[in-house]
Amino acid sequence: MPPCQLLTPQTIPEAVALLSAADGSENVLPIAGGSDLLSEIKEGVVRSETLVSLASIPGLHGITVSGEELRIGAAATIAEIADHPIIREEFTALAQAAAGLATPQIRNVGTLGGNLNQRPRCWYYRHPLTNCLKKGGDHCFAIAGNSKYLCLTGGDRCYIVHPSDTAVALLAFNAVIDTAGPNATRSIPIGDYFITPSADITRENCLRPGEILTQVRIPRLASGNTTRRSLYLKAREREAGDFALVSVAALIDLQDSPGGPTIAHAAVTLGGVAPIPHRASEVEDHLTGQPISAIDPSHAGSLTLPDARPLTQNAYKLPMARNLVHRAIAQLLIGSI
Ligand SMILES: Cc1cc2nc3c(=O)[nH]c(=O)nc-3n(C[C@H](O)[C@H](O)[C@H](O)COP(=O)(O)OP(=O)(O)OC[C@H]3O[C@@H](n4cnc5c(N)ncnc54)[C@H](O)[C@@H]3O)c2cc1C
Ligand code: SF4
Repeated sequence: MPPCQLLTPQTIPEAVALLSAADGSENVLPIAGGSDLLSEIKEGVVRSETLVSLASIPGLHGITVSGEELRIGAAATIAEIADHPIIREEFTALAQAAAGLATPQIRNVGTLGGNLNQRPRCWYYRHPLTNCLKKGGDHCFAIAGNSKYLCLTGGDRCYIVHPSDTAVALLAFNAVIDTAGPNATRSIPIGDYFITPSADITRENCLRPGEILTQVRIPRLASGNTTRRSLYLKAREREAGDFALVSVAALIDLQDSPGGPTIAHAAVTLGGVAPIPHRASEVEDHLTGQPISAIDPSHAGSLTLPDARPLTQNAYKLPMARNLVHRAIAQLLIGSI
């Protein structure tokens, strides 16, 4: 591991000031649990002379619930999210996404902020000697090389998939991401937080120089006659410690109506298929407003990713995504979660 200094601010403004003083230099980076960033530094993918630790800032920790929303601090660990009783009950897909990612050791040190801002796993990006487009080079090595794990849609010169499981679940819940930067704080709908290679091929989110993610907020279901069910399914090569080949977060809000329970609102989001967490809008539109007795989960699954453009080695992901959506909807409809 190359030597670097570790700064330990105690407040959010102090951390932002330290990062901003660097004027966006990639040599000064925020670090939380370190489970992703330290590997990148050790492997020589990222160079950093100064790390600004977010771990000792009390304002970034904790999970709290008010009448209107759930708030998860950026430094809350993945294990805390997976184990939280209200998240397990009301935000089941998020708890399942957290419980099923990486390994127990990584879930104990990895934070939500780090999980959402982790860098892609494309082998060529992760290789220190491969200067691909994402690292400022002039070539995407994956196109003619190994594209097995890459995207089906949304690629543009770069074909990564977003690696975060929690991001997929948070998109289904319409979470809002709060940030703090040198000049302002911002509240960003999660659908606008991640950016595609078309917007900026070198980055995966809209954070500005010196800005950090401070917390994530998720609206709670208003009390009334609506009940919510959600779940997260993940296909992967190994049962533990592995990223998603394809994942799906599915959520339905049910209301009683004369024709039986009806889906008042549906969200279906996918991981492993696009450079950013992907919303399966066609499936959501198909489900919304329907009585559950009218829904054929197999047909709903077939509506997934109509614009898919597989690369040479990843066409298997398309039937996988459609089958996973089919299964998720079938499980939600029978309530077997
Ligand atoms: C073997 C292995 C398997 C894994 N499997 C999965 C998986 O299946 N699913 C999955 O989702 N993830 C998986 N991961 C990734 C893992 O979840 C992340 O490494 C972890 O969540 C990152 O959290 P951290 O706090 O350690 O982040 P760090 O390593 O500290 O930081 C990661 C990145 O985020 C930035 N960052 C951290 N906090 C903030 C903040 N508050 N604001 C702005 N930027 C910030 C850092 O600068 C860095 O670029 C796996 C990792 C490993 C090593
Ligand atoms: S897919 Fe993106 S990260 Fe991977 S080699 Fe191509 S440009 Fe680099």
